[in-house]
Amino acid sequence: MKALSVLGSTGSIGTQTLEIVDEFPDRFKVVALTAGNNLDLLVEQICRHAPEAVALANAERVAQLRDRLQALEPDARPARLPELLGGPEGLEAAAAWSSADLVVTGIVGCAGLLPTLAAIRAGKDLALANKETLIAAGPVVLPELKKSGSRLLPADSEHSAIFQCLQGTPWADTARLSTGHPTPGLRRIQLTASGGAFRDWDPADLIKATVADATSHPNWSMGRKITVDSASLMNKGLEVIEAHYLFGLDYDHIEIVIHPQSIIHSMVELADSSVLAQLGWPNMKLPILYCLSWPQRLETPWRRLDLSEVGSLSFRKPDPARYPCMQLAYAAGRAGGTMPAVMNAANEQAVALFLEEQVHFLDIPTLIDGVCDRHRVDLRPDPSLDDVLAVDAWARTAVGEAAARLRARVPAGLPR
Ligand code: NDP
Repeated sequence: MKALSVLGSTGSIGTQTLEIVDEFPDRFKVVALTAGNNLDLLVEQICRHAPEAVALANAERVAQLRDRLQALEPDARPARLPELLGGPEGLEAAAAWSSADLVVTGIVGCAGLLPTLAAIRAGKDLALANKETLIAAGPVVLPELKKSGSRLLPADSEHSAIFQCLQGTPWADTARLSTGHPTPGLRRIQLTASGGAFRDWDPADLIKATVADATSHPNWSMGRKITVDSASLMNKGLEVIEAHYLFGLDYDHIEIVIHPQSIIHSMVELADSSVLAQLGWPNMKLPILYCLSWPQRLETPWRRLDLSEVGSLSFRKPDPARYPCMQLAYAAGRAGGTMPAVMNAANEQAVALFLEEQVHFLDIPTLIDGVCDRHRVDLRPDPSLDDVLAVDAWARTAVGEAAARLRARVPAGLPR
């Protein structure tokens, strides 16, 4: 029985992790949960999974959660109410919860950084979905992993595919994973990308893109932020940096290929030119399950892949003119140091403003580019945690200010 702490339990990754726990009650149990604001779903999850601890990002809502749990009929609530925690310390305590064997990081954005570090410092193994943590703070996270011996298992479907392709090879030792050193024998990574919501749009029409358009993913059902990142291909750019930190390849050997069917989840090319791929329907439960069961494989009744049903698989190079965010991510990754943290925070802020209909979809790369450009003179090549947190805060403010200037210049309404 593996005990899980699920960070971001009310989100897309969190709820799918809990579905897996429901499907394998003899294998997995939940000992800690964390959430942002969705108290209705959290109360349901507490009743169903009876965790030992629950943390809310907003400490002020803990009293409300306690009242809601105490108001439940005795037969509807767990025999023992969980310890209720709140605020950043509460999230960190839940991430480092003593009885947890594995921590699933399903918090969205750099808000996941400190809880992830708390889990690593407590020696927990991680199922890493929250890629922003590694992108912003790779140079801080990698030495912490080495010190604590925690293992970082990739839950992102592309990195899980690469990880799965490397199993069974003589260098498949996870001790090598995420050390920042090249994985021996691994020559090239090809990350597949669906191309997101706008893959078939004429780039000239992107001026008309609305929030509803950008949040309708053709293949995957995910949270809103990552769905917008998929539409801009920033998500793939972030995954390039994630792959760099996880598998140690330089940026010239990590490529992106548009694969609209999302059946091949990524490919590795080995030293002898052999290419290995991992295939499946687009379903995040599979990579999450692999993190939970690794190194074993569990039998599932899930829909089996039928290639004759798929028909054909197609591939094309991503068009840099359609996807400027992809180029920005490569440039930030190559610059290294604090630049990926700045780019990540700028993207989070720009996407948040886009979702609030404060800026246009096409403003996202402009805002990110401007802020990265300004950071160039202040770049720290070997940042500390404080450096990362400082540039993250600076980049968010800088995007907010740049967006306000943009709105002042172009006050006309956004497409609806
Ligand atoms: P969602 O938006 O669906 O869920 C986010 C979770 O984080 C929710 O539980 C939310 O709480 C919580 N949360 C939001 N803000 C904060 C905060 N400031 N502090 C603490 N908790 C917070 O996101 P996803 O599940 O889609 O994505 C989660 C992570 O996994 C992201 O980093 C994403 O890139 C990555 N990922 C996701 C995939 C997917 O299929 N969804 C695929 C691969 C990677 P609440 O809802 O209660 O407010």
